[in-house]
Amino acid sequence: MVTGTTSGATDWIVVGNGLAGAALSYELQKQGFSVLLLDPAGQNATRYSYGGIAYWSGSTDLMRLLCNEGIALHRQLSAELEADTGFRELDLLLTIAPDRDPQQVAKSYDQMAILPEILSPAAASKREPLLNSAAVSGALRLPHGQVSPEATVAAYNQAFLRLGGKLQFTSVTGLRQANQQVTGVTTAIATYSAAQVAICAGAMSRDLLRSVGISSPLYFTQAEIIETAPVALKLQALVMPAELQRFAMEAEAGTPEQEQWNQPHQEILPPILDAGVVQLSDRRLRIGQLSRVTSDLEPVVDAAASEQALRTGIGRILPALESLPGDWYRTQVAFSGDRLPLVGAMPGKPGLYLFSGFSNPFAILPPIARRFAATQAAGLESEQVLDAFAPSRSISAP
Ligand SMILES: Cc1cc2nc3c(=O)[nH]c(=O)nc-3n(C[C@H](O)[C@H](O)[C@H](O)COP(=O)(O)OP(=O)(O)OC[C@H]3O[C@@H](n4cnc5c(N)ncnc54)[C@H](O)[C@@H]3O)c2cc1C
Repeated sequence: MVTGTTSGATDWIVVGNGLAGAALSYELQKQGFSVLLLDPAGQNATRYSYGGIAYWSGSTDLMRLLCNEGIALHRQLSAELEADTGFRELDLLLTIAPDRDPQQVAKSYDQMAILPEILSPAAASKREPLLNSAAVSGALRLPHGQVSPEATVAAYNQAFLRLGGKLQFTSVTGLRQANQQVTGVTTAIATYSAAQVAICAGAMSRDLLRSVGISSPLYFTQAEIIETAPVALKLQALVMPAELQRFAMEAEAGTPEQEQWNQPHQEILPPILDAGVVQLSDRRLRIGQLSRVTSDLEPVVDAAASEQALRTGIGRILPALESLPGDWYRTQVAFSGDRLPLVGAMPGKPGLYLFSGFSNPFAILPPIARRFAATQAAGLESEQVLDAFAPSRSISAP
């Protein structure tokens, strides 16, 4: 095995180059740290995401603060990174099932920083002419943001490299330790040393932590979507159900009682479908989202049945999309047991940090990465905002 480091001592190794690792590596490098970013460059949750920025959704002072910081940051991020993230402002249209009362459904948004406008089916169709107004009892409209997820990661990476950061396309196979202290990582062909290691490996973070004896309340769903090539038709809004089943699914699957997470081949909950769609700036569509919770990272799935369910689901509300040619994909999306991200030092493992489990990442992850890097540059372990996300709230020292 080759043993080596990048030139000189590395301050930080960042494991994973989805939105989390891309943003964190850039922010750390910008603060003057030397950073090595490692990722095998396969597919990930970020690649298949809608890239929606739900900055209206803060329901606590903390989340409102971060959502405000997040949207302000996105509005200038292309200029800062000198590369287009594909940012745009657009309507979010939240569809309400025919048997549900829009006034009642809107009540579940009472705590949000921005309250939705309740639209009749006719008014909703005006906002999104492709909507089948007969399939809804109404809709909620909110101001939303969107980026191209791939362009955002690429923009962060380019700026990171310009600042002198190093990126290697390789998979981390393990964490190096000396007396409980994490001192670097191993890959199939090399060993890399660093003063600090940040795990931003999305759904794979759970297994990486387990390899050093840490059991974390970090879980994952399987998300399944259809992606089309660029299409002639044009959507006016990002469309999703007002009553998302995914959050309830995560809440139930992320309880400590779910012992099944530690056993192979377990279906922890039955699959759910939140029919929605987003159009990217190059006019491709991502039609989603079927979610399932299994203990396997790559469970056997009937792709044809899943694709059909996605088509039927979207066809009900946006009939023009049902038969568009497109390919079925799946990916894993990490979430935490309490809907708050896990950000900060790992108890009992000096040198090891976690940065994962975000439930509203496009809105709040960029400002959290910025705060995290600034805190580290100031020589502090944490600060008031980041304290709320400390892994020590739910992870004990191994
Ligand atoms: C269909 C869909 C729609 C979504 N819509 C939205 C939305 O509108 N708004 C929103 O905020 N969020 C949305 N999300 C969620 C969001 O996309 C994810 O939560 C977020 O992208 C996760 O980013 P991440 O960097 O933590 O993980 P990932 O993007 O999964 O990245 C993890 C990275 O770690 C790497 N990695 C794993 N193991 C190793 C290893 N051993 N060594 C090195 N690297 C490793 C992987 O290769 C991967 O690149 C959506 C997700 C999906 C699937």
